[in-house]
Amino acid sequence: DDPVKAYVSIIRGCDKFCTYCVVPYTRGQEASRHPDQIVDECQKLVDKGYKEITLLGQNVNSYGKDKPEWQSLFHDLLYRLDAIPGLERIRFMTSHPYDITRDLMLAVRDLPSLCEFVHFPIQCGSNRVLRKMNRLYTRESYMEKVYEFKEILPSVTLGTDIIVGFPTETEDEFEETYNALKEIEYSVAFIFSYSARKGTPAMRWQDTVSEEEKDRRLQRLLQLQNEVYAKQRQVLVNTPVEVLVERQSHKNKELLKGRTRCWKNVVFPGGPELIGSLQQVNI
Ligand code: SF4
Repeated sequence: DDPVKAYVSIIRGCDKFCTYCVVPYTRGQEASRHPDQIVDECQKLVDKGYKEITLLGQNVNSYGKDKPEWQSLFHDLLYRLDAIPGLERIRFMTSHPYDITRDLMLAVRDLPSLCEFVHFPIQCGSNRVLRKMNRLYTRESYMEKVYEFKEILPSVTLGTDIIVGFPTETEDEFEETYNALKEIEYSVAFIFSYSARKGTPAMRWQDTVSEEEKDRRLQRLLQLQNEVYAKQRQVLVNTPVEVLVERQSHKNKELLKGRTRCWKNVVFPGGPELIGSLQQVNI
């Protein structure tokens, strides 16, 4: 029932087996949809008037790896979708940093419809905990990719997921996560306290961090992230931004709501006839 934004599944399942996650057990192995089918579905959505499409999958970056005969990896699919006339914006989620390639970074830089906001979930800043989570990257290799991306496209903004209080996480290891958040200044961060999920390897490990301590760590990260958000909003003051108008504000029908390409919410005066259009708004 959203007249502007649509969601299209491109891959199901996950082969990564992070030790805290049930997805590989509940959804099974990665299975990509044929690119022709995806392009066709997106074309139909655009014909119906949708302006933005978010491509969905547990790990969209490994799209096509299970079907080498298609010769269509994730960035190849993005080039095909960008060619659909009238598709103003393409987004995708979620990503695994291990599979984020230079080709994808170049696509984000070069494709007009692909938004410069990429979910790049670090989960934790400590190498020991990352290993225990089976995340397949180190803090260093993660940072290398982040800086490569920022070098290719300085305006790129990143989102992340963070888990605090993973079994055996020490205070020093938490500080490494805190410092990573401070260094990268994500534009969106989903921060959670660890809780065990049935059927996962981590379920067998003793939950060593008390609930009070998890909450203290969570609050520290939330406070830091709120400071980052405030700083990022301040930078936008007196700057024109492109907003895709999504709907009227629920609280005040004289206001419209939309998002920038980098996923910032913008509320501004205007009538319903602007819904579905791209507007330049001075913040
Ligand atoms: Fe896969 Fe993401 Fe779950 Fe890891 S957290 S197993 S990448 S779905």
